[in-house]
Amino acid sequence: MTSRQFQHENTVIKIGEVEIGGDEVVVIAGPCSVEYKEQTMIIAEHVARAGVKILRGGAFKPRTSPYSFQGLGEEGLKILREAADKYGLLVITEVMDKDQIGMVSEYADIIQVGARNMQNFSFIRALGKAKKPVFLKRGIAATIEEWLMSAEYILSGGNKNVILCERGIRTFETYTRNTLDLSAIPVVKKLSHLPVFADPSHGTGIRNKVIPMARAAIAAGADGIMVEVHHDPEHALSDGAQSLYPQQFAELMDQIRVIAEVI
Ligand code: PEP
Ligand code: MN
Repeated sequence: MTSRQFQHENTVIKIGEVEIGGDEVVVIAGPCSVEYKEQTMIIAEHVARAGVKILRGGAFKPRTSPYSFQGLGEEGLKILREAADKYGLLVITEVMDKDQIGMVSEYADIIQVGARNMQNFSFIRALGKAKKPVFLKRGIAATIEEWLMSAEYILSGGNKNVILCERGIRTFETYTRNTLDLSAIPVVKKLSHLPVFADPSHGTGIRNKVIPMARAAIAAGADGIMVEVHHDPEHALSDGAQSLYPQQFAELMDQIRVIAEVI
């Protein structure tokens, strides 16, 4: 069902006034984690002013160490929703477990599946019954075929609104956190009708690599990008090193508009 042989025309997902997978590029931006209300409000204001329509922020964080900040949980969802509503934005946030789908769906417009959960089959099967579009990140060691098969679980379960996101895969290279597989974008665009995004923040892990790779992803045909932004990245509770300053993000938006039409 993910294949272009099954459906020739691109899937376009309409949420409010935002069309994902349509003619215009969609930019999702915000902090890695929702940390405290003022932080999310400040960042939401910055990204909204730069023209963004979808705010990201994690309330349930899949951290490598159990001692790292794990997210604010439902309190974080409330903050994210309030910030988004104040600036007229949609909300995307990660769900880590199938038991959280119902609760998170009350706050979020799009459900994010993290790279580490791409092949959590009982979870992705349950997302077939979710009432919200699903943003499915590629697993850190997943082939494109495996990634599309995970999307197949969701579509075949009844939820046709799936967005794919290339977020970097693990290679032998150490100068970047992951290797953003840009070639996956044209490969998946040919194989599938689903919208394809890129996440240059997790894809590189390094602030000054995010902007060139964001531009490259759009030039390669991505339907959108997801970018981490923080007003005080030195004190961020997660992923500060890859978070753009608001000013840098605004410059990136200007550069993207040279390459493509942006919603
Ligand atoms: C994130 O978007 O903050 C995140 C944890 O992403 P990934 O699952 O791609 O690592
Ligand atoms: Mn992050």
